[in-house]
Amino acid sequence: MEINGIEGRAYFAYISPFNRRGIMAKQDSPQQWAADFKAYLEFIRDEEKIKAVNLRAETVAALRRRPAAASAGTRAPAARPVAAPSPTSSTPPPPRRTPVPETAAQPIRPVVVISGKSGGDSAELLSQIAQQIAGCKACGLHATRTNTVPGQGNPRPELMFVGEAPGADEDEQGLAFVGKAGQLLTKMIIAMGFSREEVFIGNINKCRPPNNRPPQPEEMDTCIPYLKAQIAVLKPKVIVALGATAVRGLLKSDIPISKLRGTWQEFEGIPVMPTFHPAYLLRDPTKKVPTWDDLQAVLKKLGRPIPSRKAAEKNPPA
Ligand code: SF4
Repeated sequence: MEINGIEGRAYFAYISPFNRRGIMAKQDSPQQWAADFKAYLEFIRDEEKIKAVNLRAETVAALRRRPAAASAGTRAPAARPVAAPSPTSSTPPPPRRTPVPETAAQPIRPVVVISGKSGGDSAELLSQIAQQIAGCKACGLHATRTNTVPGQGNPRPELMFVGEAPGADEDEQGLAFVGKAGQLLTKMIIAMGFSREEVFIGNINKCRPPNNRPPQPEEMDTCIPYLKAQIAVLKPKVIVALGATAVRGLLKSDIPISKLRGTWQEFEGIPVMPTFHPAYLLRDPTKKVPTWDDLQAVLKKLGRPIPSRKAAEKNPPA
């Protein structure tokens, strides 16, 4: 089994007393739920090697409220894990009553579960992630979306672009960067010597924030397991982070984009080049020059030829 694209490792589980990724069966007593839930945590810790599980405050409270009942052993055998089946997973062991480590409650992040071997068919794995995104209601942005926007492009790209969230055009079409800013991004990509199909283009948030407001930090935190899972499948050599919000969401940095741009950073072990968002370049064309400098640094990192000034002028990045 792969969780978030990494064998034997997951980031956070989306678990509550009422959603054990999950459903608390209506016929379950709270005691049975607590015992089953602890068994489930033990299972994912031992079998899936999950190191960190975020629990809602209400989950923590529910587990603490009934410790005696939960450990009294007055229930039926624990429910089996709810993660997707895997060709490599073995029969789970019987539950034990050892304490389960817990971490703080917020934010609640989705578990991204994909089946298939690491290094398998990337397009198929990306499609599995997109399907989970399509059904996601982990943050409030689901309520106003028309379509989810998982991102699109080459399933094994050298280069990946990450923005903050879809806008109106993207929400309508279910595709990333297809509005005016997207058209400019296409020019930037072509000026670098790539086609759109050769790179992967996505966002941190997969649903459009109302009125195109920037996504809130907690909304980005909630959604980021999907991006991490995508990156684990895509394995890009370089990520270009587009704009201040995406940079904040990816790098957790409060350094202004005007200072951070052009300096190599890292996300999930992959070099990240922060630069200005194409929408910002549309508003302030004077930032085209430093943006092109950043993209040239990316080309250098990839060992690709830097287009001559003449060629870049022919296909200007902005
Ligand atoms: S923005 Fe992300 S976390 Fe929020 S509902 Fe959409 S897919 Fe789920």
